[in-house]
Amino acid sequence: MRKAVIVLSGGLDSTTCMGIAKEKGYELYPITFHYGQKHNIEVQQAQKVSQFYNTKDHRIVDIGFLQQIGGSALTDSSIPVPTDMEYEADSIPSTYVPARNMIFLALASAYAEVIGAEAIYIGVSAVDYSGYPDCRPEFITSMTETVNLATKQGVTGGSLSIETPLIHLTKKETIEEGLRLQVPYHLTTSCYNGGETACGKCDSCLLRIKGFKEANGKDPIAYEIKVNW
Ligand SMILES: [Zn+2]
Repeated sequence: MRKAVIVLSGGLDSTTCMGIAKEKGYELYPITFHYGQKHNIEVQQAQKVSQFYNTKDHRIVDIGFLQQIGGSALTDSSIPVPTDMEYEADSIPSTYVPARNMIFLALASAYAEVIGAEAIYIGVSAVDYSGYPDCRPEFITSMTETVNLATKQGVTGGSLSIETPLIHLTKKETIEEGLRLQVPYHLTTSCYNGGETACGKCDSCLLRIKGFKEANGKDPIAYEIKVNW
């Protein structure tokens, strides 16, 4: 069976990628990174998602040393998580983690090579977070070339593709796709504040709530605030 590595955060987008890769007929090999994120609960949720899909193997890789580099509202306790969802065009939000997806994809490609996977799925979207440079198609194209030049698999006739099925989808469209695939959204978390219950106020919660509303769905997770679905 063809294998795919899924960069699985336990959030809505990466869990949707699990459903998409499964529908494509891949055997799923999720990899989750513990990178010192404030919303560390993601890692537990990723384990639940992995169990839901009955995966043979799920790597949880500790790269908490990213905290030593800091520079992001998600990893640096001195930078607050923004709550206004007001991104200026061409500005990069403080939730950007420096070079995160480049680091994730480098490690995912190493894992892919070890298990003989032919694809890596990553749930980036250039629509909702267009401020993040490592979510853009140009970066993915370049990184695909790089991992094929940097791995034994790539230079000995095999190839590794980086699949980004959500890259041109809005949050609404991603959720519609996930609902069609019966993705376990009840097991996912998106809140940047990382509580047991989603805050409903941070950028990520606001985007998620908006997406479910536009998709005419009801988010199955609990929020600290009352949401009128
Ligand atoms: Zn939140």
